[in-house]
Amino acid sequence: KIGLSKNAAIARARLAGICNRGFSTETGSKLEGKVALITGAATGIGKATAEKFIQNGAKVVIADIQPQLGQETAKELGPNAAFIACDVTKESDLSNAVDFTISRHNQLDIMYNNAGIACKTPPSIADLDLTVFDRVMNINVRGVVAGIKHASRVMIPRKSGCILCTASVTGILGGLSQHTYSISKCTVIGIVKSVAAELCRHGIRVNCISPFAIPTAFVMEELTQIYRGVDTSRLVELIHKAGALEGAKCEPCDIANAALYLASDDAKYVNGHNLVVDGGFTSSKTLGFPAPDQMQ
Ligand code: NAD
Repeated sequence: KIGLSKNAAIARARLAGICNRGFSTETGSKLEGKVALITGAATGIGKATAEKFIQNGAKVVIADIQPQLGQETAKELGPNAAFIACDVTKESDLSNAVDFTISRHNQLDIMYNNAGIACKTPPSIADLDLTVFDRVMNINVRGVVAGIKHASRVMIPRKSGCILCTASVTGILGGLSQHTYSISKCTVIGIVKSVAAELCRHGIRVNCISPFAIPTAFVMEELTQIYRGVDTSRLVELIHKAGALEGAKCEPCDIANAALYLASDDAKYVNGHNLVVDGGFTSSKTLGFPAPDQMQ
């Protein structure tokens, strides 16, 4: 059965309101005539990217496990958006989503494997719950591989295409998240390198984006479990304050802008790349030594 519990769906819809802030309405033509399929696009980063792609001339198919929210999103984004129910853990759903895109638009130019989840798990590897591990890997890793497989099935004969995936800063640095999520995202970065090495011979580019923390639905769900009873607005502030870049915060539109760049001809020679969108977080670790004058 496709779908989340009613409460989870309502929480996600409410949080989508928070996440939608900061969308740019600027239009362009960088993706004129292009067709994109985006998984996990009912809300959050995927929705922001769908909106950005449409603003730039693309037609977008939103593939998501939440049928009601997905349909509402497609309606909100207008006639160039369509929805298809898809659980990325089912290869047949991804295959159907690709075939639906082709039957509707005759082509698939951009496949964005964005759907992903996190799960609250014990912090120590010694306590790792391998059932939870398998569930997360099934969505975050196997779902990405299956998405790439079915996109390449239709892109290879055309000798062109762009495949994107959402990785994470937690796949670059250890200790930012629990092991399961971190390992899944580290693997996404590896998948991109492995697949780009093959698909480059067919004119297909494969890249990923590694966002910093953004208070989207699944992140807020995880945080509300950890910080029980703490106000949503305080948790959003907590996330934004954890960033490295003074005066800025990471938002879905920042990832959508990165995806637009990678999907467009601006990035026509960018392949096998992990575009880190983190305000410098993963390159700004400083030693905790005191300043020399504090040692006098
Ligand atoms: P989100 O919860 O707002 O959106 C995730 C979407 O994926 C939802 O619409 C959900 O219904 C869908 N989804 C979940 N399981 C699915 C499945 N099995 N099949 C199809 N769709 C499914 O979260 P988001 O932050 O927009 O997450 C998008 C991606 O960004 C994820 O891969 C996530 O790991 C990654 N990411 C998020 C952050 C962050 O801090 N928000 C940081 C780094 C990476």
